[in-house]
Amino acid sequence: MLFGYYNGLNFKQKRIYQESDRVVAFPLPDPETLQPLATKVQEALRSGRLDRTKKWAQHLLDSITDQLGIQRVRLDLLDTRPSNSKMELHGLYYPAQGRKYPRMKLWMRTAKRRQVVAFKTFLRTLLHELCHHLDYECLGLQDSFHTEGFYRRESSLVQQILPPLGHSSLAHPSRQKRLPTAKAV
Ligand SMILES: [Zn+2]
Repeated sequence: MLFGYYNGLNFKQKRIYQESDRVVAFPLPDPETLQPLATKVQEALRSGRLDRTKKWAQHLLDSITDQLGIQRVRLDLLDTRPSNSKMELHGLYYPAQGRKYPRMKLWMRTAKRRQVVAFKTFLRTLLHELCHHLDYECLGLQDSFHTEGFYRRESSLVQQILPPLGHSSLAHPSRQKRLPTAKAV
């Protein structure tokens, strides 16, 4: 836990933070049916085609939210990640807040070299942003914090959805090397 950050929260936010920290997994009803869709995302990314990647990533998202019986999220997939000297943005989540759909924004190329993002990184970012959605929709939280529980929920989704062949190299994910993923609320 980042104590400086935590101490800056008000009482209500601390209660939400603690609730978020307690849940360590999101068990999916039928993860095996999602793995082929993840493979489709992988193939689409490999082709470098934005329209195809968006189509399959949206399909994967819809299948997850439909399995859970919650509202769908509309994906905006964009080309090159925005960046400054300190960070590169991977993804954003926008709760509905009066709009028809909650939205998610992802980018498929790195800022510096404009290379297509590695599949596992892309999948993890997609599921990271989806975890913000699940915090509101499944856990009923009024805010979505990056707690230890949140990252464990993210990992639980990755483990369930990642096709078996790609599993081994995610055994030791390095969170330190991961650039910050911003959250929009
Ligand atoms: Zn986040």
